[in-house]
Amino acid sequence: MLVWLALTFALGIGFWLGGSPLDGVLAVAVWLGFTLAFHLYHLAMLLRWLTHPVAERVPDGFGVWHNVFMTLYRLVRTQSQSKRKLTNVLERFINAGEAMPDGVVVLDEFDRIEWLNPMAVEHFGLDRKRDVGNLLLNLIRQPGFHSYIKADSFSQPHILKMVQPRELVLAIQLVPFDSTRKLLLSRDITQLERVQTVHRDFVANVSHELRTPLTVIGGFLETLSDMPDSDPSALRQFLPMMMEQSRRMQTLVEDLLALSRLENSPKVLGTEKVNMGELLDTLMVEAEGLSQGRHHIRLDQVSGSWLWGSAQELHSAFGNLVSNAVRYTPDGGSIRLSWADDGEKATFSVRDDGIGIPREHIPRLTERFYRVDRGRSRNNGGTGLGLAIVKHVIARHQARLEIVSEPDKGSTFSVVFNRDRIAEPDAKV
Ligand code: ADP
Repeated sequence: MLVWLALTFALGIGFWLGGSPLDGVLAVAVWLGFTLAFHLYHLAMLLRWLTHPVAERVPDGFGVWHNVFMTLYRLVRTQSQSKRKLTNVLERFINAGEAMPDGVVVLDEFDRIEWLNPMAVEHFGLDRKRDVGNLLLNLIRQPGFHSYIKADSFSQPHILKMVQPRELVLAIQLVPFDSTRKLLLSRDITQLERVQTVHRDFVANVSHELRTPLTVIGGFLETLSDMPDSDPSALRQFLPMMMEQSRRMQTLVEDLLALSRLENSPKVLGTEKVNMGELLDTLMVEAEGLSQGRHHIRLDQVSGSWLWGSAQELHSAFGNLVSNAVRYTPDGGSIRLSWADDGEKATFSVRDDGIGIPREHIPRLTERFYRVDRGRSRNNGGTGLGLAIVKHVIARHQARLEIVSEPDKGSTFSVVFNRDRIAEPDAKV
């Protein structure tokens, strides 16, 4: 600036002394005009750049403008670098939020939705475009939800049962995160709730099953202890009934243990080769023993194939099917066992012409303690666990259970094994 002033002054004085004062004034005027044009030119460059301020296109200039443009360039570069960094951080946060397996909704101070992730859309049936800016409480109208959102304490999650868009049990929690905003987190606990319900029902069922025999035995013991002198004839009368009840408890406990073993042992079974001919003979002997000559029992069809699997588990599953056929077939009825193999699949089936099962009960038969007729099952020594055991065993052998039944006509229970379970019989020695 000083140099420029000195130059202007020197130019004016020089022309004045070398010519006339007018020459001095004219020279200064020309010089000032030139300077003005110089600055206007650079100013125009600056203005043009400002309309598209891209760091890489900052113009270059002469003199003082060179310094101005260089400083500007450095400033813009630093700014765009930190902007890029911020954008990256923000993007990472948004991506993390989007990928979260839990639902996340960001709420403003009035509980209006600011942002939500895809899982929240799935949990609450919200729309990411339409619902942003709307009051959350107008969109989720569930009993208890309103009071939870309006409450001051959010330390405990709230359990929310959703019906729309689908039946879900959600654990939701509000987390205030700056002076005004809140995060609403939601976790799908439907499966957990279902498991807990099954567990609760199971404990209730077991207790119920044990209570009856225990009450009966307790009642007999009380009666006996109330008798002044133990009456041998009363004892003779009560003892078989007490033994019957204790046998019932024992069977129940054995079935429970069998189920628990199946549920807790590893999935992959040993590759034992099961001689189906021998197993069928054993099943036949057991069926005759249970029936005591009340039924016509026969082996219908026997393939020579063996099975890869667990002999003990298969015996238990097939034995349950045979025992059911005997127990649910009135005297004089017939029961047929068969073992067939068509090269693609092998099928073990038990057919009876007993009481049959109404169609609506069939899908639930393998549930623990599910019985069509509770009284009938108990009277013939059933625990309600037989088919649950069958289901587990066949699942462990990748087989499937097929049930065909008609009331008063009879039932056929078939266990169908895949080709890779079929084994060649060992050579006879
Ligand atoms: P349970 O010990 O009561 O027999 P299961 O689990 O073995 O229990 O069978 C469940 C229910 O399925 C039985 O209570 C009975 O109602 C029905 N069921 C099973 N097998 C037969 C069958 N062969 N004929 C008629 N009903 C059957």
